[in-house]
Amino acid sequence: MLGFARTPDEAAGKPSAARAVAERMGAAMHGIPTDPEALEDGLMQHLSALLAAGAPAADHLAIITRAIEDRCADPARSHLSRAEIAQRTGFVSFNDGVAETQTPVSKDIETDVLIIGSGPFGASMALFLSELGVGNIMVTKYRWTANTPRAHITNQRTMEIFRDVGIVSEVKAQAVPHEMIGDTVFCTSIAGDEIGRVPSWGTHPSRHADYELASPELNCDIPQTLLEPIMVSHATRRGTQMQFSVQYVSHVQDDDGVTTKVLHRVTGTEHTIRSKYLIGANGARSQVAADIGLPLEGQMDIAGSMNITFTADLSRLVGHRPSALYWVLSPGANVGGIGAGLVRMVRPWNEWLIVWGFDIAQGTPEVSEDDARQIVRTLVGIPDLEVEITGISLWGNNEQFATELHRGRVFCGGDAVHKHPPNNGLGSNTSVGDAYNLAWKLAAVLREQAGPDLLETYDDERAPVARQIVTRANQSGRESAQLFEALGITEPGLSEEQMRARIESRKDATP
Ligand SMILES: Cc1cc2nc3c(=O)[nH]c(=O)nc-3n(C[C@H](O)[C@H](O)[C@H](O)COP(=O)(O)OP(=O)(O)OC[C@H]3O[C@@H](n4cnc5c(N)ncnc54)[C@H](O)[C@@H]3O)c2cc1C
Repeated sequence: MLGFARTPDEAAGKPSAARAVAERMGAAMHGIPTDPEALEDGLMQHLSALLAAGAPAADHLAIITRAIEDRCADPARSHLSRAEIAQRTGFVSFNDGVAETQTPVSKDIETDVLIIGSGPFGASMALFLSELGVGNIMVTKYRWTANTPRAHITNQRTMEIFRDVGIVSEVKAQAVPHEMIGDTVFCTSIAGDEIGRVPSWGTHPSRHADYELASPELNCDIPQTLLEPIMVSHATRRGTQMQFSVQYVSHVQDDDGVTTKVLHRVTGTEHTIRSKYLIGANGARSQVAADIGLPLEGQMDIAGSMNITFTADLSRLVGHRPSALYWVLSPGANVGGIGAGLVRMVRPWNEWLIVWGFDIAQGTPEVSEDDARQIVRTLVGIPDLEVEITGISLWGNNEQFATELHRGRVFCGGDAVHKHPPNNGLGSNTSVGDAYNLAWKLAAVLREQAGPDLLETYDDERAPVARQIVTRANQSGRESAQLFEALGITEPGLSEEQMRARIESRKDATP
């Protein structure tokens, strides 16, 4: 018998059509050479023959591709992605899920893995577990996914992971491509003078080849509001049971599993979910991480930031000089006390986000829509700009990480264990990386292909990454402050007029 996870049919005590197909394929493949390309070509022929002979195509592309991986010994040798195999063979990796949803016979809901939160960490955990055939339920407190753009720069490693699970084309279709996100611009306002631009995200000619050589995928820019629905939809199509408006309340774990109490926010009722493992994917203020007492180093809320999202057509100002990030040197702007506001492209060139600092020691400011409109007009540099404010939110800059990531059967990842400012765009990317590390290990342990000790390596491998990225993002913030110091606009006590004059002097002819 092939070493696959139990299929839904088998779980229901019935023979599995998918396993029969996979086993016939495995047996037939013994005569095929081990050269990866020939192997894959041969495999394609066998799959086509099986399909032509009317073999049921309904179940599990994952099972079939795992047969390829078994035959290749090293999965990396199989150069076709799962999505490509699906396309070439006509096999589909999902059905509508209706037949697979069993109504529980008692009030107890059971699953292998319960995931709390559907942000980048939770949604990718769900997607990867479902791809590996592991049963999982994902619950999230709100009625939909992220409602503000937040993360956007999606790095090469994350794109490789998306490639592996067959969602990279969909991500690229919705993303702003690498070529358009290149330069970080420093200017007096979007309409005003450009002081400089720094090629970023691997677009500098001297770095670009490194990026091209490092990976088959380049980085891109996709706001979290667009990325999360892609991940959640693929997770649910592949098997995740998704529950919106369901809030984590508490949990108790024993030797065999975890019993979690959740509150259904629509009905106001509480129920319990029994799982073999519980995943705390509920962000920087994770109640799950707090409940298991993960040790934390560093501090939360070391500075205050405000996000203002707005729509305004700025294409005539920026369409010819594209960038994802515009630092506007402007008296009154105060990101980290540096006299600059950050204008970020969300969608070219009519959806934007401004990050504006505030002094957290003075408490949280009241910001009206008129205040926000004024900030937008100042940074864009057009006093009567037509603008629609679409959101105002406040958030704290953090410098904190967990030194251990799990207790027993409860594992945390993402912002629950690494909390830091957006510099370098590390948060969402690292959250996807955490999930990619943990999901296959959970699958292997649940299938009894590995002992539970394997799960200890999650902490060994990811806790140092948590420390590293928190340090890196905060260091970048401090280093960029040096640039503003060099421009002479951060001296304490500088009046707005003096600051304006200093910025103006950047245009003076140099000797
Ligand atoms: C302005 C800004 C820009 C950023 N830019 C980047 C970038 O360019 N690149 C990058 O990689 N990262 C960036 N980040 C960071 C990124 O947004 C986070 O690192 C990422 O969202 C963390 O993912 P997560 O899944 O751990 O947590 P979150 O995204 O915070 O998700 C938490 C989830 O838990 C749910 N939840 C919370 N409490 C409960 C509860 N009690 N019960 C049930 N569900 C609950 C929420 O509904 C949500 O679904 C940025 C962040 C900000 C603020």
